[in-house]
Amino acid sequence: MWNTGNWVVTSAWPYVNGVPHLGTLVGSVLSADVFARYLRMRGHRVIFVSGSDEHGTVIEIEARKKGFEPKVFTDQAHNYILHIWRLWNISFDNYTRTESNIHKDFVRDFMLDIEKNGYVETREQFVAWCPRDRLYLADRFISGTCPYCGYEDARGDQCDKCGRILDPDFLVNPRCTFCDSRPIFVSRKHWFFRLDRLEGRIYEWLRNHGLLGENVKRYSISWIESGLEPRALTRDVAWGIPAPFKEAEDKTIYVWFDALLGYISATKELFLRTEKQSEWLELWSSPDTMTAYFIGKDNIPFHAIIFPALILASERNYKLPDIISATEYLLYEGEKFSKSRRVGVWADEAVEIFNEVDYWRFTLMRMRPEDRDTSFKWSEFIRVVNSELNDDIGNFIHRTLTLIWRYFNGEVPEASKIGDLDREVLEGAEESWSKYVQHMDRAEIRRATDVVIELARLGNQYITKKAPWFKIREDPEDVKTTLSLCFKLGLYLAVMLHPIMPASSTSLLDMMGVENSGKLVVKNSPSELIKDRHVIREPRVVFTKIPKDLAATLLDSEKREAFLGSVREKVNSQRPEALKF
Ligand SMILES: [Zn+2]
Ligand SMILES: [Zn+2]
Repeated sequence: MWNTGNWVVTSAWPYVNGVPHLGTLVGSVLSADVFARYLRMRGHRVIFVSGSDEHGTVIEIEARKKGFEPKVFTDQAHNYILHIWRLWNISFDNYTRTESNIHKDFVRDFMLDIEKNGYVETREQFVAWCPRDRLYLADRFISGTCPYCGYEDARGDQCDKCGRILDPDFLVNPRCTFCDSRPIFVSRKHWFFRLDRLEGRIYEWLRNHGLLGENVKRYSISWIESGLEPRALTRDVAWGIPAPFKEAEDKTIYVWFDALLGYISATKELFLRTEKQSEWLELWSSPDTMTAYFIGKDNIPFHAIIFPALILASERNYKLPDIISATEYLLYEGEKFSKSRRVGVWADEAVEIFNEVDYWRFTLMRMRPEDRDTSFKWSEFIRVVNSELNDDIGNFIHRTLTLIWRYFNGEVPEASKIGDLDREVLEGAEESWSKYVQHMDRAEIRRATDVVIELARLGNQYITKKAPWFKIREDPEDVKTTLSLCFKLGLYLAVMLHPIMPASSTSLLDMMGVENSGKLVVKNSPSELIKDRHVIREPRVVFTKIPKDLAATLLDSEKREAFLGSVREKVNSQRPEALKF
């Protein structure tokens, strides 16, 4: 278990050109929320921050298409996304935006520092100009063949196939994504970040890093081994943070550098609102602070190479990343999520389809793509809710509490005679807890949910074997032992679910007679929550299944499409203009 007191937990800043879909949630914001809640439950002090990434050409063009100024567009988008986080019960301490003045000043000062330290140089760079559309094309508006792997649809900034960061003029057969014509590359002066000067230090840091996931390490080290090049910090884009360098008045800071620094500026903004204004700096400068980043795998190079390089170049001694949890992709019924082809489910639609946020949170964590790309399937969604949540976990807890209520007036009995089977179950519970802690400490949330399900199954087997309902007359001492242990198991389950299903777990723990369940703290083991003569409240049904007709609709692809179509239409009509699609 972590010994440190202070954590900064963050998730990749959502780009606000659209509503987040289930895939975005699983990799970034939702996983980060579960981790932040877990740490708080273990008694740590957690600062959980993120924000809307709102700059760059994509938004500029999206806004113009809808007839808005970019700022009007992102105001609408940001407010709606805040509403989505409330719907999904995301426990941010500060969810800000890149248009925040504190952020903009922070980025500009930071850039001047790295320039002062000799990490910025100007270079002439070939920039794509589309003669037909008459505009400078931002990197991702150019596509072409990846020079490394030959993928034909690589974007100018990154290849989706091999993950490498690219420069548009590296692409073989470049084309404008708006009109398909071949752009002209013209020479423009730009300000570059001397990433190459930090190659050795980043390499050593990565190699000696004990906590980074295998995928993060492997990918980043191989990228460094092929050599780091200076990266352009500025862009010929109007919508962004004006570059602070001399003679760079007509340029803005490249969105990626802008958004990465938001992790720090969002913490600063949070503390500037309080009495202890300088605490953000103490937090970010202390070697004892732990930091955790939740991202999709396409963001690895920015978090494991560019962000630490920026920190080193600033010479400000901010803490380098401790945990970078990068998920693989979540697919939707075997396909990539696609806004244009309407493949997928978006965060606001999900709640309209089935209004139990905790169930969504749990199923998404069950499907969290930790080792490989994983597909969201409706059949799996229904299986997880009906069979795992209801049959395995819910029934076990409900049976246990009902029997305690009936036989012992709600007072949890003492275990008086422990046999072999009982001992096995007790050990099973302790073992599950320590496995759960090991996984959660490393942000392996899906693996932690495996442990929860195993423990619930152990509980069901145990209570079935012991059959207290047959023994209450002839062997009440044995029934006491059985129900005492079942209560313990149920409590462990409720605690383990707490970060994932906060509302359901809180009401479960209330029912189980745990005080202050909304601000649950479990330092060593959930047993510490059991008091002498522990009394429960009247048991109620714990979870509910997905209604039969809804399940039938979701499992029949034709009916489902019609149903989802009507949901989409309804939800879309409630979105602000900027985010309708
Ligand atoms: Zn490639
Ligand atoms: Zn064009």
